[in-house]
Amino acid sequence: MTTRRDLLVGASALVALASTLPANAADKPAATGAATPASGDKAATDKPAAPTGPFTLAPLPFADTDLVPYISQNTLSYHYGKHHTGYVTKLNELYVGNESLGTTTEAVAKATFGDKDKKPLYNNAAQAWNHAFLWNSMKKGGGGFPTSGKFADAMKAAFTDSDGWKKAFKEAATTQFGSGWAWLIAKDGKLSVMHTANADSPQWTGEGTPLLVLDVWEHAYYLDYQNKRPDYVAAFLDHLANFDFAAKNFG
Ligand code: MN
Repeated sequence: MTTRRDLLVGASALVALASTLPANAADKPAATGAATPASGDKAATDKPAAPTGPFTLAPLPFADTDLVPYISQNTLSYHYGKHHTGYVTKLNELYVGNESLGTTTEAVAKATFGDKDKKPLYNNAAQAWNHAFLWNSMKKGGGGFPTSGKFADAMKAAFTDSDGWKKAFKEAATTQFGSGWAWLIAKDGKLSVMHTANADSPQWTGEGTPLLVLDVWEHAYYLDYQNKRPDYVAAFLDHLANFDFAAKNFG
């Protein structure tokens, strides 16, 4: 019998994503409520209903005002409340009849990657996973450059210093033409940056293990930065990048 555990790759690194699992998963973590918006907030009353499963939406790992002024509450209310929610809702619809493909968003995305007939299912499973990974890639008071530990040593080996890291990641994020993602990845213990288009992630293209991601779809930054993607990327690098999460994923 294949257990859910067998389907998870790098389970310890991805523990924060576990609440995108079907609602009946035994080890589904309790919601923290951290993302509960202040009462009376118009954006909050505007939100579509939360997906009821089998795939559910994990709460944001921070309050929706925590990333201000770099990412506004308005952007988060649309990005999380509408875009991410929408991917999970659509995934639940498309999953009907496809249950044999897996019980996690990661398993479903891996099973459908490159399958033209399953493209909508792939896109929604992959985007559900990517966005859960994205929220954990950011935190209040993040950014800069890691200073100690095995992950910091690997960052130094790959990028030399803070300037080298920021230059490399910024280039990856700004040269993705159109919608996509910029990644810090590990392959055979070495770190590098890359970008992917649309819903792709290096873990199902086989290019490496994701450590950190930034969403460069316009919906991620247009309300706050309009067309100035480089300014959004700089804000992530200077103030938001969550190196604790990246270090955990590095192992
Ligand atoms: Mn997005």
